[in-house]
Amino acid sequence: MENKEDLARINPVQLDGKSKLQFKCHKGLNCFTKCCRGINIMLTPYDIIRLKNRLQLTSEQFLAIYTKPELLEKTDLPVVTLKLLDDEEESCPFVKDEGCIIYEDRPTACRYYPAGVATLSNKEEHKDGFYFLINEPHCEGFKEDNIQTITEWRKDQGVDIHDEINEGWTELLVKKRSFPKNIKLTDQSKKMFFMISYNIDEFKEFVFNSSFLKRYAIEDAVIEEIKKDEKALLQFGIRWLSHILFNKDKKENSEFKTASA
Ligand code: SF4
Ligand code: SF4
Repeated sequence: MENKEDLARINPVQLDGKSKLQFKCHKGLNCFTKCCRGINIMLTPYDIIRLKNRLQLTSEQFLAIYTKPELLEKTDLPVVTLKLLDDEEESCPFVKDEGCIIYEDRPTACRYYPAGVATLSNKEEHKDGFYFLINEPHCEGFKEDNIQTITEWRKDQGVDIHDEINEGWTELLVKKRSFPKNIKLTDQSKKMFFMISYNIDEFKEFVFNSSFLKRYAIEDAVIEEIKKDEKALLQFGIRWLSHILFNKDKKENSEFKTASA
């Protein structure tokens, strides 16, 4: 979650899980909700599942009302960002005077803030990612007397759970980014990536109401799990994407053996 004007204020110091963060955000600060305007929030697949269920929408409806499509720099992959309101301050659609109205289901980027995570770097020294701070001048949270490590902050904000569920997806983005520029995915592959990443209802239809389960010999226990658990379905979809895009598993080890094999 980055304020468009404040990208330049990103603290260039690289942090790890043990780095200390002096910060606390709460109602009563003069800056309360200022960070929820004029921002750019890329949504992760698990963000969409949480938000569409919170708002009791289908994933298709959520995408249409609350997101706009973008191509992720250096990956050429379609992603979505939160569509801001058309008001003077370009407010997040979920911010009200009393705060975030979907707080328990807020996106991953909002949970991290004022820290950010850099997992899309393909430089060798950054291969495990790192954290950084976004020091916006209006943010009074840095003056508060509360010190936590980045690891404690991630746990406190529930971002560790989001990162775990999105892990395969993030790895896929990093892998695509490391591809030579002349290797392009087909439009069909990009459509698959978008459906699995963001339109979980459509992917469910695809798995259970097409020839998919006839083509692959998927274990019964997996089928049962993905039928009732959207998180499991998402992770299954990402494993399948890695399999078809990058031949991730050797055939004999793959969970996606063809049914006739
Ligand atoms: S303390 Fe920082 S993060 Fe919290 S409301 Fe103020 S600007 Fe936003
Ligand atoms: S989702 Fe909530 S926390 Fe995130 S920018 Fe919007 S109002 Fe703020």
